[in-house]
Amino acid sequence: MKVLVCNVGSTSLKFKLFDMPGDVVLAEGKVERVGRTDAIFHYGNRGTGYTVQLEDQSILSYAEGIRRYLDCLTDPENGVIAHVSEIERVGFKTVLAKGFYGIHELTPEVLQAMEDYLIVAPAHNGPYLEAIRQIQQVLPGVKLVGVFETAFHTTIPKARRIYGIPYEWYEEYGIQRMGYHGASHGYIADVLTERNGGTGNAISCHLGGSGSLCAIQNGISVDNSFGFSLQTGLIHANRIGDTDAYIIPYLLAQGKSVDEITKGMDKQGGLLGISGVSNDLRDVQIAAEGGNERARLAIDAYCAGIIHYVGAYYAELGGLDHLVFTGGIGENSSLVREKVCSAVAHFGIVLDEQKNAQRSTQARIISAEHSKVKVWVIPANEELGIARRTYEYQ
Ligand code: ADP
Repeated sequence: MKVLVCNVGSTSLKFKLFDMPGDVVLAEGKVERVGRTDAIFHYGNRGTGYTVQLEDQSILSYAEGIRRYLDCLTDPENGVIAHVSEIERVGFKTVLAKGFYGIHELTPEVLQAMEDYLIVAPAHNGPYLEAIRQIQQVLPGVKLVGVFETAFHTTIPKARRIYGIPYEWYEEYGIQRMGYHGASHGYIADVLTERNGGTGNAISCHLGGSGSLCAIQNGISVDNSFGFSLQTGLIHANRIGDTDAYIIPYLLAQGKSVDEITKGMDKQGGLLGISGVSNDLRDVQIAAEGGNERARLAIDAYCAGIIHYVGAYYAELGGLDHLVFTGGIGENSSLVREKVCSAVAHFGIVLDEQKNAQRSTQARIISAEHSKVKVWVIPANEELGIARRTYEYQ
C-alpha cells in the first residue's frame, strides 16, 4: 500500500511517500515558505536524495504545494508512481481534537473537534485544518488518517492526567494532561523493542523546537511532560513550558492584554525569553561560551527541567533501563546530554565521553559498557511512526 505522510508547519509542508508494509520511503518532498512568491520546493526520489530543488517559486497555498509534489511523484523521469490513484492513504501528524485522542479517519466530525480546540493549539490546528481541507480537494476519495500526537499517550493512567480542578471542567471541556510528541515517543518505543525485544523501563527525551519527556513501560506511555496545551512541560524554543496559572490573572491586573500574554507565552518565552539571544540552542550555546550570563542561565534552566522529569519518571517507573535522546537538540547537543546524565549519575548512568562527543545519524548507545542504564541517541523518525499507524488503521 502506498501511504503518503504529510507533516504540516505554519509555513511549511513535508511529505514522504512510503511503500507499506516494509517501511520503504519511495520519495520525499518539502515546501518552505508556503504562501509566498519566493517559496522553496524540494523533491527527491528513493536513493538519489533531493534531486529537485527550486527556489523563488510562487507556492501560495498548501494545495499548490501538494500539487507540485504529486506532479513530481508521477513525473516520467523522477517519479515513482504512474498515477496519483496509487496513493491509498494519507497520514497526518495531527495534534489535538476534542474527544478524539487516538488515530482517526479525518471525517467532518473530527475536523470540527480540531476546530473546537483551535484556541488550545493555535499554531498547529490552524495550519493542519487548512492543509487537510485543501488536500481533500486535491486527492478526492483518498482515506485521510489523523495520527494525533496524543494517541501514544492514551495509556497514561487517569490519576496522572487529572488536574486538581473542579471536576466539571474536565467533564465539560476535556481539560486534562494530554501528552504530545506521540509519534516520536512511539517510534522510540518501536526502536527499543526491535533492538532489545522490549522497552523495559525507558525515558524518551524528545528535545527539539519543542520538547517533552515520556515515561515508557513495556512499550506503552505511562507519563508525558506535556499538559493540556503545548505551552507546558519543559522550556521550549520560544514557548514557556510549565508555569504558575496565577501569573495570568496577575498580569491581567497589571494591565497586560490577553493577546500580549498569549504572545509572551507562545512566542517570546522559552530559551529565547530567558536568554534574550535566540530560540535556537546553537546560538544560545555560542553566547554562553562567550560569557553571556542569561544564555548560561537559559541552558541551565532548560536542563533543570529535563532533570526534574527524569527524576520524577525514575520514581514512577520504579527504575530505569534506557534513557533516550532524540530530536534536533537531543541528537546534536552533547552538552545537554552531558549535563543531564551527570546530574542523574546516581541512577546508575555512566556516559562514555567519547561516544557522547561523536556525531552520527545512526541510532547508537553512548553510555559506558558498565553503565546500569543504557543511554541512547536515536534520530527522530516521526514520519515512519505515522506511516506505520496509518497503514495499520482499521
Ligand atoms: P522541530 O521541533 O522544529 O522539528 P528539531 O527537532 O529539528 O525541530 O530541532 C531543532 C532544534 O535543534 C534547533 O532549534 C536547535 O536548537 C537544535 N539543534 C540543532 N542542531 C544543534 C546542534 N548542533 N547543537 C545544539 N542544538 C542543535
